Amino acid sequence: MINFSFSEEQDLFREAVREWLSKNLDLEQVRKNDTNHELPQSFIKGMGDMGLLLLTLPEEDGGSDADWVTATIGAEELGYADISVATPVFYLVQASWGYVINKLASEEVKEKYIRRAATGNGFLGIGVTEPGGGSDVAGYKTNLKPDGDGWIVNGEKTYISGTAEAVEMDGGYFVSGFNDRSKGHRGMTSVFLPINMDGVEITKRFDNYGRMAISTGGFKMTDVKIPKEYQLGETNRAFYDTMEGFDAARVLVSASCIGAAERALEIGMDYIKEREAFGQPLAKNQGIQFDLADMVAHHEAIKALIYKTAWMLDQKYQYGKFTALECSKYIGMVKYLAPHHALDTFRRVMYWHGAYGYTKECPLEMGIRGIMSYCIGAEGSANIQKIVIARETLGRDWTKTR
Ligand SMILES: Cc1cc2nc3c(=O)[nH]c(=O)nc-3n(C[C@H](O)[C@H](O)[C@H](O)COP(=O)(O)OP(=O)(O)OC[C@H]3O[C@@H](n4cnc5c(N)ncnc54)[C@H](O)[C@@H]3O)c2cc1C
Repeated sequence: MINFSFSEEQDLFREAVREWLSKNLDLEQVRKNDTNHELPQSFIKGMGDMGLLLLTLPEEDGGSDADWVTATIGAEELGYADISVATPVFYLVQASWGYVINKLASEEVKEKYIRRAATGNGFLGIGVTEPGGGSDVAGYKTNLKPDGDGWIVNGEKTYISGTAEAVEMDGGYFVSGFNDRSKGHRGMTSVFLPINMDGVEITKRFDNYGRMAISTGGFKMTDVKIPKEYQLGETNRAFYDTMEGFDAARVLVSASCIGAAERALEIGMDYIKEREAFGQPLAKNQGIQFDLADMVAHHEAIKALIYKTAWMLDQKYQYGKFTALECSKYIGMVKYLAPHHALDTFRRVMYWHGAYGYTKECPLEMGIRGIMSYCIGAEGSANIQKIVIARETLGRDWTKTR
């Protein structure tokens, strides 16, 4: 049976989050965060108090047992409030990768790192990308060498979200590497890497193009001794566990982009109703209305697909109804479509604003800069999503990549 309504709890969650964000994260504050290159600690703790951080985890581990549709609502609302998408990054990396880390973590890692992050006093991230490339997982150089029951890790990760926050808040990362290269991607194992551990060196903070309020950096691992309690999941399973994290993160990324696009449309509609040219408001021109109609139609189609995809994830986790691969096709579609739709919306709404749109007095440029990160590649590039969609449509025999 098709049901296009949210549950009462989901509606109440959306209302509560929107109300809290309207008081604590208006566009003026988003601009301040963008300029200061950080999210205020008090705001992060507030997110923890609101139950927004790591909400997908079980209650006993500090979460709210939230389903993926609810987590998607959270991402959409955060994107709506913070069009630079810095706050959504802080939220969604933890809701998705934190979920996978927690599922695979020992009690020691939960106690020392995970429950603390859920209160806004820590940070959990994902460190897969390497200087040699991010898309080609089998080409990663990081190695895990057995060391008693644990591992010695050597390698380097780069373009990693939240490195400064992780250092500041004593957090850690889901990191994987090869323990047996002869097995290809089936010879990879994941560990939880506390960022302040001996042998971990922060290499840099990038001077990014957008989403300035959360850091993007890198770290080098030199003979890092990882005790067995810090291994995540089974040996040789890293590739599959990594894909599970990407799946969840990509749905939330898409939702934050659609939330930001919705805000851009609202900003734009307010403007075209006010601004006059040739003796009438811009909104009276059919040329502008056609532009609007085009954006709204794409917006609603993509938003529906995002929530269908989140629902599929819930069906997979709760009832085993869809396989991971069936979900990944839809996840690829929304991760491909939503950031590009959002970028296009910001660009077109910026045009409506004329010269004012090109200034930093107008908030729209923060959206363009932030959303671009998700078009370029954060949580997987556009072409990689297309490879997944084509593979799951044509069949694996037609897959060219290794
Ligand atoms: C702001 C930001 C934050 C990020 N945060 C994180 C993070 O927290 N953790 C993390 O691990 N990574 C993170 N990343 C890295 C991100 O995951 C990678 O950028 C992404 O996986 C692509 O890798 P790459 O940049 O090395 O590009 P490459 O893999 O070198 O690819 C370059 C280009 O070639 C295309 N390409 C590659 N292979 C193919 C192919 N077979 N067919 C067609 N086209 C292809 C890609 O689509 C891309 O456009 C972040 C990136 C950004 C921009």
